[in-house]
Amino acid sequence: MANLTGKTAVVTGSTSGIGLAYARAFASAGANIVINGMGAPEDIEKERAAIESDFKVRAIHSPADMTKPAEIAGMIALGESTFGSVDILVNNAGIQFVSPIEEFPIEKWDAIIAINLSSAFHGIRAAVPGMKKRGWGRIINTASAHSLVASPFKSAYVSAKHGIAGLTKTVALEVATHKITCNCISPGYVWTPLVEKQIPDTMKARGLTKEQVINDVLLAAQPTKEFVTSEQVAALALFLCGDDAAQITGTNLSIDGGWTAE
Ligand code: NAD
Repeated sequence: MANLTGKTAVVTGSTSGIGLAYARAFASAGANIVINGMGAPEDIEKERAAIESDFKVRAIHSPADMTKPAEIAGMIALGESTFGSVDILVNNAGIQFVSPIEEFPIEKWDAIIAINLSSAFHGIRAAVPGMKKRGWGRIINTASAHSLVASPFKSAYVSAKHGIAGLTKTVALEVATHKITCNCISPGYVWTPLVEKQIPDTMKARGLTKEQVINDVLLAAQPTKEFVTSEQVAALALFLCGDDAAQITGTNLSIDGGWTAE
């Protein structure tokens, strides 16, 4: 397992789901953590304190809104000023909205592109100078099976995720000689609040029951017929932070139960 003692990881959208699993995995390897994301203050504090007590590292919360470039830069600066460096950046915050394109609300398109794609640009832009200076870095973007294939009614999400796959390759090439890697991880369906919340809209858009959405839409895409777990995604991210992964860069790593093999 990667030893991240003395390193700092910033994980966007880590008050819940996959992001929280990343934060806990990096902390288990010794990294100090900047968690980020929305939620009830008492819930966020509970997760933050649990990271510190479970893994004997330090953890702080940045409330930066991923639609606001200045706040994203501020989150990186907070990590650097609190812990001395930001060595690992995981761009993970994301939202979903499901609708036929002709009814797709313009503000939902803008929000998804901002949170799921542009925030990664802003975070990387702010974190790379410090990583270059120290000669080490790991940038991991949570993409999706939807960075490789599409599904109907998810125009903004699929566009953002295809975009993040391209951003990943571009950044990897730019930082390749600085011992900084940049990869994206593309999960299939992971049972998190993001997936749970899209079920009612998918029921409406496709005229299906909840059980039909789970079995005939979500798990229909996954040959294993099982959800991916957040912990499995986090274990892959942790591997990417180790020395064994130093030559893995610019890749899009699927963890999707075989979805995109079809
Ligand atoms: P989630 O809803 O559990 O977590 C999303 C996180 O993003 C939360 O911490 C939330 O507070 C944060 N967030 C949302 N808007 C924000 C904003 N404006 N500023 C800051 N933080 C904000 O969802 P999840 O399923 O864990 O998703 C995490 C990532 O994984 C997303 O990028 C998502 O697209 C991707 N993903 C999820 C699945 C899945 O099946 N769950 C599959 C593939 C990819």
